[in-house]
Amino acid sequence: MSAARILGAPAGARHDHRHCVGQALAEAERACRQQGLRLTPIRRQVLELIWQDHQPVKAYDLIDALRDRGLRTGPPTVYRALDFLLQAGFIHRLDTVNAFVGCGAHGRPHAGMFLICRACGAVLELDAPSPIRLIGVEADRMGFELVTQAVEILGHCSRCRAAGKAVDARGPAAREPTRPVDPEPA
Ligand SMILES: [Zn+2]
Ligand SMILES: [Zn+2]
Ligand SMILES: [Zn+2]
Repeated sequence: MSAARILGAPAGARHDHRHCVGQALAEAERACRQQGLRLTPIRRQVLELIWQDHQPVKAYDLIDALRDRGLRTGPPTVYRALDFLLQAGFIHRLDTVNAFVGCGAHGRPHAGMFLICRACGAVLELDAPSPIRLIGVEADRMGFELVTQAVEILGHCSRCRAAGKAVDARGPAAREPTRPVDPEPA
């Protein structure tokens, strides 16, 4: 009844990505107009850069990319633009990889769950009502109030698995994800 659903184009899948970018920018413009928000040139550029791919983008890469475009913007400006885009729901912040990704379902309520490939960095945004509801129920049982409820799951995407890239991902070069529940002893 509530199986997870992929939101937007699946990462790595063959598709016309210009369509994704165009759609994301048009939706942002529409939503801003409707809500009386301003999609300033810098906010628009940051959103466009984040949508360059279905992979998460780090803040310092955005700063570099803007500099390459000839924009002399300091990190505070970029962080403010990111804050705006986050607040407006146009992008998501992925804490496990400390990066940002465009939202594939803006304006539609969705229970965010992200599958993040450790080998290629591709992100799949899912609408996963069942696990999210379960988390809500468990948190509630413990009197814990949820503030954000994005679930980030690290693993290996089907393409990388098919290409055998997942094999060495458990090796010494692989970064272990941070485990919030079981902190490493100092
Ligand atoms: Zn795309
Ligand atoms: Zn989303
Ligand atoms: Zn992958």
